[in-house]
Formats: sequence, structure tokens, C-alpha cells
Amino acid sequence: MKKLFLCITVVLFTVSAYAQSNDRFYATMNIVDAEALKSDIPNQIDILATKQNEAVVFMSPEAAHKLHDRILVHGPGYIFKASMDDALQALEKQGAPLNRSVLPFTITEDAAVSQVLEVIQTQNIETHILELQEYGTRYHSMPEATQAAQDLKTKWEAMAALYNRDDVTVRLFTHDNTSMPSVIMTIEGAELPDEYVIVGGHLDSTSSQGNNNAPGADDDASGIATITEATRALFEIGFVPKRTIEVMAYAAEEIGLVGSAEIAQEYASNGVNVIGVGQFDMTLFNGSAIDVSLISDFTNGELNNFFSQLMDHYNASGEHQITYGTSLCNYGCSDHASWTAAGYMASFPFEASFGQHNSNIHTANDTFSVSGTASHATKFTKLCAEFLIETAKQDGVLAVDEVIVRNVFAAISQTSLVYDLTATDIIFSTLEVFDVSGKKILQQSITETKGEVSVVHLASGVYVTKFTSANGTSVSKKVLKK
Ligand SMILES: [Zn+2]
Repeated sequence: MKKLFLCITVVLFTVSAYAQSNDRFYATMNIVDAEALKSDIPNQIDILATKQNEAVVFMSPEAAHKLHDRILVHGPGYIFKASMDDALQALEKQGAPLNRSVLPFTITEDAAVSQVLEVIQTQNIETHILELQEYGTRYHSMPEATQAAQDLKTKWEAMAALYNRDDVTVRLFTHDNTSMPSVIMTIEGAELPDEYVIVGGHLDSTSSQGNNNAPGADDDASGIATITEATRALFEIGFVPKRTIEVMAYAAEEIGLVGSAEIAQEYASNGVNVIGVGQFDMTLFNGSAIDVSLISDFTNGELNNFFSQLMDHYNASGEHQITYGTSLCNYGCSDHASWTAAGYMASFPFEASFGQHNSNIHTANDTFSVSGTASHATKFTKLCAEFLIETAKQDGVLAVDEVIVRNVFAAISQTSLVYDLTATDIIFSTLEVFDVSGKKILQQSITETKGEVSVVHLASGVYVTKFTSANGTSVSKKVLKK
């Protein structure tokens, strides 16, 4: 094995007048960017140390702003550090070996994956992106950002309740370096609850034209919509994971990965065994000949390879086809870098080859209308669901429930909801109908195993029917009213 010679150069610096400003902060960034800023605005930034391609800097918000404008990067262009010690430690850890046990990644869950690919709905992704864009801004320090986090918690809770998931909890994770909380949904593993699989995206947004107009549709409402729809699809097929799944909407990514860094560091210091982390940040804009770019820096090669294998196995051709390649981001450009820095395996499937991605991000023009469809994001949603199923693995006991779900027939024919539960051996006593936001539209008792209920008053759209027996067994089926 080749050993790299690691050298940390601590550069003495003169404290300028600007350095006394209280809002200066520590960060790590690409050394080329640090040196360019130092040459452009020498009083706004000091380079404290360098190692390989990375630099530790102490800089002003003006320098951070300049960095945003100067280079077309995704994310802020730097990684915030709460202290000089944190920053120097991060630099030392660069390229450090994994400190977690590594499992062999396998592809075994063809049945569950083929079901999940059929139930992922592009419309749900579009609706969710538009909902998030509607806040106007989700800049981390604005009240809208915190509101968006609270609302997402409510949405995820309603989604879990809709599918009767008592193995799901949703919590807000409060932070030291931002007022905005992150949102974490946990689906407890049925067999290996102490082994974690994580997917995430960032909920905050930013704009160089003023942070009160930062719709952030692609960056990163699309990622939040992607992980939400992937999870909903798992619920719809009744997927119960062996390992614990966590779905994370990070706060304050745009000011230097603040939310994900605090979470990843807490998990590392508590010794949480995370098997792998998938980052979904920008899935909307189809800018390259390939669909998915696997970012190859600040990620884990073995996990990246597994993402490739998933697409080779499940998405090689046909209606679920996904083409892919690799690309470099050149710095820790999204939340995957927080997990990598904490010693975990992380991957980042990105919307395009880097540089061909949506050029409207970080502006008031990052709106859904730029793409007008979530069909590109749908591919990432499929990949996300495949990753979750194949890493968390299906719990064996579910087979029984799956048979029940398959034996339940429910459909809307013109103005009637028609159901047939004869093929199950269960006497269901209650029928409920929910809309896609989780709001209950209808509830009534049923006495026959076959029947019809008028739904003449329902608008066109997708609904979820839920049948519950007297002892609490329940199954859900999605129906479409044309
Ligand atoms: Zn982003």
C-alpha cells in the first residue's frame, strides 16, 4: 500500500482590521479558490493552513459572498467550521480511513424493487417541489426556513400515518450554528435496528440576489421531494426494513454544510453504525447526455461502485432506464462531505456532469418552471428507493403482509369505489379514504367483503384507501379517480 506523505503548512498571517470583525468565521475550502480570494480581496480572508487541495481559512461574510459569485459551484464553496481547532482537525482527517465496519453490499431484493419502481409517482415529486418553492425563501436564518422544517415534519408524520406505520418517528434536530432545525424521519429496523442506512438532502435555500427571494426548486427542493417520494413508495409496497432507515432534510447546507456536519459529528461521537449515506442534492435539471453523475470526490469509492451496480442491475434498459457517469465537484460541495469527514461511507448521485448542472441555482430563477417536469428527478427517486431497499433489506415477516396487500382489490370506476377483499382471510370492518396530503376524506364501516361506495363528490386525483379489521390489521391501496 502506498502511503501518502501528508504535510500541513501553517501559514502565519497578519491580523488585519477586518479580522477583528465578529462575524468572521473559520472554514475549509479548495486551495485554488482560497488563493484566488486572497489575491482579489486580501483583507477579507486569511489562509491559516493547507493540505493537499484543501485550505483552512478565516474569512468575512463578504468573502463568502464573493466566493458564491466568483465561481460556478454547487453549495456555498466552503465548509463552515465552528472553531479554528475544528477546521484544522478537518484538514488533518482529510483522506483518513473509515472507522466503521464495512459490510459487503449485495443485490438480493428484486421482488421489492420491481414493486417499488411501479408505484413511484412523478406527480408527487412535482407537487412537493412546488410546495417548497411556495415559501419564497428557505434561507436558513429566515422564519420561512424553520416553518418549512416544521411543515415537513408534519407532512412526513401524516405520510407514515396514512400507511399505518407505527415503526416510523419524525423529529426535529436543533443546531448550534443555525436557528433552522433539520428534520429526521426514522423507520426502525425490524431485525438490525442498530445498523443505519441514511438518505438526505438539504431543505434550506439561498440566493445571491437577496435571501428573501430564494425559491430553491432544484437546489434542493428536488432532493427533498426525491427522498420523500422514495420513502412513500416504500410505504406503499409495505416495505419493512431489517436495518433502520433514516431520511434527513438538513438545515443550513448553503452556509457551509452546518446542519449535516452537526448531525454526522453527533452520530460519530455516539458511535452510531451507519452502513451508508446517499445524498440527493439537485435532481431536477437534465443538463447532460447521462442521467446521473456519481460525484467521485469526497465520497466513498466502494459505495459509489454499489450505486453503479444498482443501476446496472435495475436500470440498464426499458422504462426504468438510467444512464450514468462520474464527475468531480472539486470540494465538499454538499452534505455527503459531512458524513465522509465523520468517517462514514457516502455517495452523491448528481443531476448532471458537474458544470452542466442548472445554472439558475442560487438565484431567484431557481424555479420549477426551468424544467417544467420532474421526470429527471423520478430517476433519482427510483435510485434512492433501490439503494434503501438493497442496503436496509426486506424483513422476512413482511411476506405475510405482502400477500394480504396483493389480495386486496380496490379501484375507482367512474363515481364508485369498488373493493373486493374476498381473497384475504381477514374480515375488514372499516374503510377510510385519504387524499395524497394525508387528509381523511371519507370513513365508513363495511360489513361485506365485496362492495361499492359512492365517491361522486371526490375531485379527480390520486387517493389512498385503507381497510382496517377489528383487531387493527390494516392494508392500504392507492386508487386513481379520472
Ligand atoms: Zn444544494
